[in-house]
Amino acid sequence: MWTSSFDLHCHTTHSDGSLSVDELADEMAKQQVKVWSLTDHDTIAGWDEAKRAASERGIKFIPGVELTCDVELPWNREILEANSRNRPPSSWHLLAYFPHEPLEDGLKQFEAWLSPLHEDRVPRMLEMIDKVNAFGMKIDPVDVLSRAKGSVGRPHLAMAMVDAGHVESMNEAFEQWLGDGRPCNVERPKPSLAEATALVHAAGGITSLAHPRYYGVDYETLIQHLKASNVDAIEAFHRSHSDDDRHRLWKLAEAYGLGVTVGSDFHSFNGGHRPGHMPVVINALPELISSA
Ligand SMILES: [Zn+2]
Ligand SMILES: [Zn+2]
Repeated sequence: MWTSSFDLHCHTTHSDGSLSVDELADEMAKQQVKVWSLTDHDTIAGWDEAKRAASERGIKFIPGVELTCDVELPWNREILEANSRNRPPSSWHLLAYFPHEPLEDGLKQFEAWLSPLHEDRVPRMLEMIDKVNAFGMKIDPVDVLSRAKGSVGRPHLAMAMVDAGHVESMNEAFEQWLGDGRPCNVERPKPSLAEATALVHAAGGITSLAHPRYYGVDYETLIQHLKASNVDAIEAFHRSHSDDDRHRLWKLAEAYGLGVTVGSDFHSFNGGHRPGHMPVVINALPELISSA
């Protein structure tokens, strides 16, 4: 049975989204989303707000987070290009979900593990701004940090560079300066899928690899790697994935005994994006989620 009532991937001002939790909850309600997960980057700061906002609107809320993990398999340029990605991936994104009340000790451990990954974002950003300045592009750290209502990230710096006239576009900022391997990027330690998944499992949650199309890896190889890392699911039904991608990923996941998840990856209304409206087959979802 197909349904469009799940949206398990979206961002708010707690990371790089443009809506507050309340504004996003309104949109989810308007789009008739019935099961909603908030998955801000490397932070769970929005959970309490979102839980309240969801219950006020009669929506089931699943606490979630999008974890920035290491690149674990080599990318293939042809696959990247076929998917119109012109940059190799700098990280893989792992969605973590806690559909049922997380286990207290496990959650404490998970939070303790997560907080340096999150806190690391400011020192890293300051280092990147230093590098940008060293190339003669004047950027005020206060300007960059004030653009982030939650976690600061490279998009905030890219926006500041565009506004200051140092580059023409966000894309140029990444291509020339901020992307992986570019001169102003500062690498930060990233966990492996297996490490992150073990911590999430210990807190009673499950994981799903976000937007599998972005990594330039053959889908079957990727799914075998997920199995080996104990990842529970794959986000076959991501907004940017074609029907053909969704179908292939879904069937492969089924063959390997992985669940699939669904998400709009909504950040803002730019470019006609909107939350919800993501059809998925209910019984392909991980049991913990479909039973939510
Ligand atoms: Zn992502
Ligand atoms: Zn995302």
